[in-house]
Amino acid sequence: MERQQHRADVVIVGSGYGGSIAALRLAEAGVDAVLLERGRRWPVDDAGDTFATQTAPDGRAAWLSETSPLTDAKLDVYTGVLEFVEGSGMNVLAGTGVGGASLATNGTMCEPSPELFRQTLGDVLDHREMTERWYPQARELIGCAPIPDDIYHSEFYRSARSFADQLDKAGIPWTKVDLAVDWDVVREEMAGTRVRSQIDGLNVFGVNSGAQRSLDRTLLARAEASGHIDVRPLSVVTAVHPVDGGDGTAGYHVDYETIDERGEVRAHHRVTATRLILSAGTLGTNRLLLRAKQSGALPALHDALGTRVGNSEVITARTGMAENNPRQGGPAAIFAQDWKENPLGPVSLLNFPWPDAPEGEGWTTTIGAVPAPALGAFRYDPDKDDVVLHWPADDPALARAQSAITHTLDRLNEANTGTRTAFSRIGTTGGNVCGGVPLGTVTDDAGRVSGYRGLYVVDGSLLPGTGVPPALTVAAVAARVTSLLVDDLVRP
Ligand SMILES: Cc1cc2nc3c(=O)[nH]c(=O)nc-3n(C[C@H](O)[C@H](O)[C@H](O)COP(=O)(O)OP(=O)(O)OC[C@H]3O[C@@H](n4cnc5c(N)ncnc54)[C@H](O)[C@@H]3O)c2cc1C
Repeated sequence: MERQQHRADVVIVGSGYGGSIAALRLAEAGVDAVLLERGRRWPVDDAGDTFATQTAPDGRAAWLSETSPLTDAKLDVYTGVLEFVEGSGMNVLAGTGVGGASLATNGTMCEPSPELFRQTLGDVLDHREMTERWYPQARELIGCAPIPDDIYHSEFYRSARSFADQLDKAGIPWTKVDLAVDWDVVREEMAGTRVRSQIDGLNVFGVNSGAQRSLDRTLLARAEASGHIDVRPLSVVTAVHPVDGGDGTAGYHVDYETIDERGEVRAHHRVTATRLILSAGTLGTNRLLLRAKQSGALPALHDALGTRVGNSEVITARTGMAENNPRQGGPAAIFAQDWKENPLGPVSLLNFPWPDAPEGEGWTTTIGAVPAPALGAFRYDPDKDDVVLHWPADDPALARAQSAITHTLDRLNEANTGTRTAFSRIGTTGGNVCGGVPLGTVTDDAGRVSGYRGLYVVDGSLLPGTGVPPALTVAAVAARVTSLLVDDLVRP
């Protein structure tokens, strides 16, 4: 198949929080860019059947795989919304599609406390600058709000209220978390004028009602409307290398394949760009850069590439409380902040819905988060021609993080007679994995890749974990890095 050649001023790879914010800021500055996204578009319409659901899973749930850890069903092979990659000690779950992981997240937007921030990001970012400028900007860009009272007190959110009661009994503080949700659409779901999605907890493969404020429908849509951003879906970037093997001064070749929705390659392309922004997410950016270092395309990349990978996510389930099924409205609501009383570390718990929780007794499923040292590392595996995440699960510091979560769960169980922990495990899904391209080491503090010119990273791979779910911090850092990047691009 002959390769098609193109040129562009700027190429962005990936359309998650990093890529979308970069695209919007470039568009606002009048800079033209091509955005290559491996996944498809997911337009939500009145038919209410854009995404697979947990109750009727199909290939739309997984990226080119017959299996997913989130369902037992055998799937048709399709360019679905979540890629799952097994690692050594920790797996990775990564969003795909125009809008990245925002299509299929719980949408919780959590800002770490000053102490949590200090523990995880304090050596690379200034907390005051982030909290005064970039977190508010990220919140505004995403558009998020906590669950309104009328919805919270409806029958669909009984499990969220049950969790809040349990926390009160255990004396653990909580707030209502900011969510990237359009609550008016949730009201329409309740009124029966939209397909039931959030109110039935059917959100893990995407939200058919349109209640998710995913990036393709918000800030990326604004970027595209400007006419400056050319989004090319189903375009899988396979390699990046500097023109003439140099340091990027002459630009970059970006090789990509256009595929159909079954993953069949339709054409090979090479686009040559003056500047290249990698926003392929933690998995995707580590893949591209580690492959490029391995192949000799980008030999000057810092040796710390692939390191400082963190994941604070622990999936937990408790049962034995008063019956709070069968409906468990989502995506979340309650943000428990056991940040002061836990001697093993500041623990956060966010409830999330379990749409088909067994009936008969109540269930509370949560995502737990605790700051843990970023001891994971992506390494290139030549047999797979892919990266593998190595996670030293037996390291005492990581075991301690898991114990901190157990401590919070135990106190909840003690204060709520009859309740017990059904399971609590780290590393099974890994949607919150961050790092591998440490800000300030592999890049400077503005995301410029050290050793190369005109090569930037703008995504979760810059962060060594955040101690709370990372999306808001990824977006805040993307806003910060992109403002510096735009200065670079428009400077004469
Ligand atoms: C199931 C799930 C639920 C989550 N829930 C929450 C939550 O509730 N709260 C929270 O704070 N965080 C949550 N997270 C984490 C959060 O979504 C991520 O931290 C965030 O999306 C990271 O943004 P990003 O820009 O780094 O990358 P992503 O959003 O992952 O976007 C990267 C994009 O790059 C594309 N890409 C990758 N490789 C290539 C390639 N070679 N060529 C072209 N395109 C490519 C991908 O398809 C994807 O669209 C969740 C993650 C998952 C997977």
